Amino acid sequence: MKRVCPRCGSSQVRKYGKVRLQQGILQKFRCMSCKHVWHTRIVQCIPEDMSDLVFRMFRAFIRDIDAGKCLSDAGWIPLNDNEIERLREIDFCEIDYENMNGRINYKSQIPTELLLTEEGRVFHEFLRAVGIAQKVEALKNNDAEYLKAVAAGLNEMLKNAQFIFWEKKKGFIPEKLHNVVLSPKWGVFAKKIAYLLTVNLLESIWGISDVSKLHLGSNKEEIAGFNSNINSVINEIKENPQWAKIIDFFRSNKDVLEALSLAWFVSQRAIEEEIGYLGAELLILETAMKIVADKNNEDVAILREKLANLNEELYRLVCEEIWGVNWNDVFRLP
Ligand SMILES: [Zn+2]
Repeated sequence: MKRVCPRCGSSQVRKYGKVRLQQGILQKFRCMSCKHVWHTRIVQCIPEDMSDLVFRMFRAFIRDIDAGKCLSDAGWIPLNDNEIERLREIDFCEIDYENMNGRINYKSQIPTELLLTEEGRVFHEFLRAVGIAQKVEALKNNDAEYLKAVAAGLNEMLKNAQFIFWEKKKGFIPEKLHNVVLSPKWGVFAKKIAYLLTVNLLESIWGISDVSKLHLGSNKEEIAGFNSNINSVINEIKENPQWAKIIDFFRSNKDVLEALSLAWFVSQRAIEEEIGYLGAELLILETAMKIVADKNNEDVAILREKLANLNEELYRLVCEEIWGVNWNDVFRLP
């Protein structure tokens, strides 16, 4: 494969020194016709003149998955006879002889050296994201597992909630609650409150009475060591009319709460799998939203609209109260 200038197409190309970067070594080239200078990554595991092609295939895969193509269609690029011949030397590529296409074989072992490059890293993140998305899709036909995922996500959302209290006038917040909120142990209390609100929502919205079956993890320790002070504060929140309104709202908008919860669930999976590339995160989140919409027999666009209006709805529910919680900081997407 002869090197040509990417700007003018001339084959009068000279090597022009190397640059060492964190991601690897770059070979600089200079076109003798138009003086254009560019560089190509040098990797040891493939022939030097194949690296352009291999990285083009990585980028094609990323671009296609980003654009919503499925795994079987993603990453194919057209090849000429010579390229097909050369590609046969590389065992992590696959060739479609009939259509003269080739791509990275995502099922094969790809050399670590390549996975450490920028393209390889994103490619690998996408593969992990697709893996998570497939597991989420499997929830569609498994009500019990779906509910478990929703419960785990709900728990995660409430654990990460900021409970910010407001009052219309000084002194409206009940004194016991006020003292707990200002106490240095508030962080610990907030976790306990979060757990009890999770249990309360699971009971009221999905009718789950035995939460222990859901394996939320920390149930025992979350409720252990309660003193009467905390109990009365929890009751203060749970028996407050605004909490009843929140429960009512989510009872008739179960899809919204499931969407938020499943979003938190998949976001935890993404963190565990060290997925940080935005396109890969979105792929997982989109899959989760589709599953929730499917489960609730509605269009995903309607679900998205409901989510977009959630802040306003939550505000409207409690704005007449004399004190309250910023529920927007509790019921939110990750
Ligand atoms: Zn040139």
